[in-house]
Amino acid sequence: MNKTSIVRNIFDAKRIVVKIGSSLLVDTNTGLLRTTWLRALAQDIKRFRDRGQEIIIVSSGAVALGRNYLDIQSPELRLEEKQAAAAAGMVRLAHAYQEAFESYRITIAQILLTRDDSENRRRYLNARSTLMTLLKLGSIPLINENDTVATEEIRFGDNDRLAARVGAMISADLLILLSDIDGLYSSDPNKNSNAKLVPEVSDITMEIESMAGEAQSNLSSGGMVTKILAAKECLAAGCSMLIAKGSEVNPLLAIENEAKCTWFRPNGTPYTARKKWIASTLKPIGSFVVDMGAIDALKKGKSLLPAGVISIIGEFQRGDSIAIETTEGIEIGRGLSAYSSNDAQLIMGHKSREIYEILGYHGRDELIHRDDLVLN
Ligand code: GLU
Repeated sequence: MNKTSIVRNIFDAKRIVVKIGSSLLVDTNTGLLRTTWLRALAQDIKRFRDRGQEIIIVSSGAVALGRNYLDIQSPELRLEEKQAAAAAGMVRLAHAYQEAFESYRITIAQILLTRDDSENRRRYLNARSTLMTLLKLGSIPLINENDTVATEEIRFGDNDRLAARVGAMISADLLILLSDIDGLYSSDPNKNSNAKLVPEVSDITMEIESMAGEAQSNLSSGGMVTKILAAKECLAAGCSMLIAKGSEVNPLLAIENEAKCTWFRPNGTPYTARKKWIASTLKPIGSFVVDMGAIDALKKGKSLLPAGVISIIGEFQRGDSIAIETTEGIEIGRGLSAYSSNDAQLIMGHKSREIYEILGYHGRDELIHRDDLVLN
């Protein structure tokens, strides 16, 4: 891959998740925040925003900061000590980000997630719509794992995979993993002077996985192995990912200026990946039987409105995959319902403006939004 396209993609990305590792933000010797580094990062991010790019930050560092703040001496933290450290450190971490962005009048909003939040459909949808709303409000979501409640079974344990999941959740087109290593090497660069940086990966082959196994970075939780798992998730979601060294000040500027890094490039875009997921991965658990008017509108690329639905089959929740059928029972497409079957039963056949009166809350105008819909 030539350099021009590296730079072109950074500038082209519309929605970018930036993941920041603990070792960049917190001085490993003193346990204190690297304030100058964070201010410079804010400056970098401001530039992205001025170009119209949306930014979501996934930041580690709560445990590292909290451990120093609470003066926990043990070298290896037990899970409950980590959770206590995270509880104290997260306050400081969020505050540090707010301060760093204050002079640019950019607001920061904290979201703490567990793996469960991204797997349980209802919680996933809530998290997604909160994130989207924050972006619309011009705020920067600051995300970390909810370490204080995340027990071993329900935690990601590393923010690389959390960041990839967030990227997939909000259809980001780029995830930047800022790390203490500048990319994926063919073998461990500390042990092998012939180790070569791999500039581009488009498929996570066994060979790539074995490179990751050898070339570990020093990060506390996420080594190269978790980064490759993150890359897999990104590629499936149509999101590009890059691993770059973040320890110097203004790391994003360095990437713009063509610093060494590894790019992971998907085949499709987040849009096509999401449509594919709706069309082939999800199994419909109910049906909307629609009238001719609705079929015509759908064929023109419109959303499915409650007015066009004649009957509803099955019981389902908001966000479930639903088949769209003709009165003869022929499936013409499928999509994600914006309403549960109970609420959909009440509003079907009605105009969207009547939804509030019928249900008592402001839901979406569409039963299935066109972005959540695929026709056969
Ligand atoms: N959630 C942890 C923290 O904020 C970090 C996990 C990781 O290092 O990836 O300290």
